[in-house]
Amino acid sequence: MNAKNLSERLRLVASFAEQGTVLADIGSDHAYLPCWLIQKGQISRAIAGEVVKGPFESAKRNVAKEGLTDKVVVRLANGLQAIHPDDGVETVTIAGMGGSLIASILENDADKLKGVKRIIVQPNIHAMAIRVWAVSNSWKVSNEAILKEDHKIYEVLVLQRGDQSYTPEELLMGPILLQERSAVFQDKWQGELNEISRVISVLTQSAQSEEAKAKRKQLSATKDMIERVLKS
Ligand code: SAM
Repeated sequence: MNAKNLSERLRLVASFAEQGTVLADIGSDHAYLPCWLIQKGQISRAIAGEVVKGPFESAKRNVAKEGLTDKVVVRLANGLQAIHPDDGVETVTIAGMGGSLIASILENDADKLKGVKRIIVQPNIHAMAIRVWAVSNSWKVSNEAILKEDHKIYEVLVLQRGDQSYTPEELLMGPILLQERSAVFQDKWQGELNEISRVISVLTQSAQSEEAKAKRKQLSATKDMIERVLKS
C-alpha cells in the first residue's frame, strides 16, 4: 500500500469524506489516507496527526515525496491535539485502532471537535465502544459499512451530530449494519459467536471464581443476543 495505491479498507474510509472538506487523520502513520484524498481532489487540506516519532517521520517523508507539503500538515501530537483552532477541520478520520482507544481519543479532547461535522472511524475491534461514546456525546451513526479484505473483516462508522438512542443489539452490531445484514456481517458475527462459545467453554472448565462466573454470564447474554439476531 502507498499514497497512490490505497487498501480497500482505507478507500472505504475515504469514500465517506465529503467533497472539499478539511480533514484531520489521527493516527496517520504514513499519511496515505490524506495524501490519497488530496490527490483525488476530494478534500481541500489535511492534518495528519501521529503520536509516535517513527511513524510521524514516515508520514512527513511521504507527504514530501508526494509534493503535498502545502496541503497536508503533519503534526507529532497525541490524538485530537493535532487539531489547532484555526485549521478549520470539519472531518476527523481515525482508522486501524481498537474501538476503545478511538473512543478515548474522542473523549480526551472534546473541545477539538467544536467545528467538526463528521467523524469517520474504522475500529479493528470493539466498535460498540464508539457507538456508546457517540450516544452520550450527542453524535449519531449516520452511515456504516463493512468489508472483508485479506481474510479480515473491517467496520466503518460515520458519525454526525444529533441525539439518538440505540437498542443493545444496535450498539453491539451497528444500527445500519444490522438492517442490511450483508453476507460479510453474517460472517463476522458467526465468527464472534464461535469465539465467545470457545471462551465460555474455557471459563466453564477452569476456575469457578465469582469473577469467572460473572464473565461467563455476561458472555452468555451476548451469545444469546447474537444467536437471536442471526436466526431472525
Ligand atoms: N490510520 C492508519 C491505518 O489505518 O492504516 C494507521 C493505523 S496504525 C495501526 C495506528 C497508528 O495510530 C499508529 O501509527 C499509532 O502510533 C497511532 N496512534 C495510536 N494512538 C494514537 C494517539 N493517541 N494519537 C495519535 N496517533 C496514535
